[in-house]
Amino acid sequence: MRLVVLPGDGIGPEISAATCEILQLLNERMSLGVSFETHEIGLARLRRENTTFPASVAEACRAADGIVLGPVSHATYPSRAAGGINVSGELRITLDLYANIRPSRTREGLPHWGRTPMDLVIVRENTEGFYADRNMYWGVGEFMPTPDLALAVRKISAQGSRRIAKSGFELAMSRRKKVTAVHKANVMKVSDALFLREVRDVAKKYPDVMYEEQLVDSMAALLVREASRFDVIITTNMFGDILSDEAAELSGSLGLAGSINTGEVHGMAQAQHGSAPDIAGQDRANPISLILSAAMLLNWLSRKHHKENFGLAAKAIEQAIDALLKDSGKRTCDLGGPLGTKAFTAALSNEISRHAR
Ligand code: ATP
Repeated sequence: MRLVVLPGDGIGPEISAATCEILQLLNERMSLGVSFETHEIGLARLRRENTTFPASVAEACRAADGIVLGPVSHATYPSRAAGGINVSGELRITLDLYANIRPSRTREGLPHWGRTPMDLVIVRENTEGFYADRNMYWGVGEFMPTPDLALAVRKISAQGSRRIAKSGFELAMSRRKKVTAVHKANVMKVSDALFLREVRDVAKKYPDVMYEEQLVDSMAALLVREASRFDVIITTNMFGDILSDEAAELSGSLGLAGSINTGEVHGMAQAQHGSAPDIAGQDRANPISLILSAAMLLNWLSRKHHKENFGLAAKAIEQAIDALLKDSGKRTCDLGGPLGTKAFTAALSNEISRHAR
């Protein structure tokens, strides 16, 4: 089993190193048989090779069984022509990673900022929507007909909506069996009507799942007021991106927010947050986001390859993190705790070692 690790920019190298340390530990303790390959990408690679994402690294990702991608500072990259490829967007499109699964849950003893506890998953379409930089076959979907007029293209397809709906309903079947579709069909009467048409049609095939719809603006408020009423939330690309940051922060911190991008063939672990340049290199980043993302990848590999020990390794990570978070002295600074990235990772390794065989 080959995993490719791409550390990325900002806090990426720090949280990727922490994630590799935990994965290596489980690899040894639970005989996972995983080999790791780390490839430099992003601004560091650009300085050496004039590209943030060489073709050789793209090929290594395609050939791997799974990818762990650190956050990238793509907003600061030069143009694509000057070597600035957004690695995250590129991999999502070229490997057809259409489902971005973003869970958020509160934990016993850990303060949360919404009015109720939550345990929900945002299932975000990942390959179309309002991501105008990547939703065209040729050219970009954002353009300026005059210096004072800018237009952007939002793409919604029946196939894209249908497959994300199926992912969400399948997930709901293994959880509390409730799906909420989030949209803005009162304004985007054509594109979001198409999205809802497909989700409603898929809903008919899952009679055991309770189905409801919410406008995205109401949803933003309801996440603060009563997040406990939601289980699986299916939505389009941009809405999912924004709501998942909100949910993650309300659950305690963005630093807790793991996620996985999956398609029919490939899987990629990626924290929900960005590269946090404001705290990069200061040993202040919470690595839980990427470590939990890696646990999601282990679970995905476990299901795909029928490898029970991968699922057990994922569970060992989740349980150890929950145990540490109960103790306010074992938390990182974003959670009001005293630990830096390295000290937290060492504490997590100890906790895992106490239980994992
Ligand atoms: P980018 O430009 O790459 O999106 P950003 O700083 O604008 O970076 P995020 O990286 O999502 O956006 O960060 C938003 C805020 O959350 C920042 O103040 C950042 O320091 C904080 N943050 C994000 N991730 C973590 C983390 N893992 N641990 C601690 N704080 C984090």
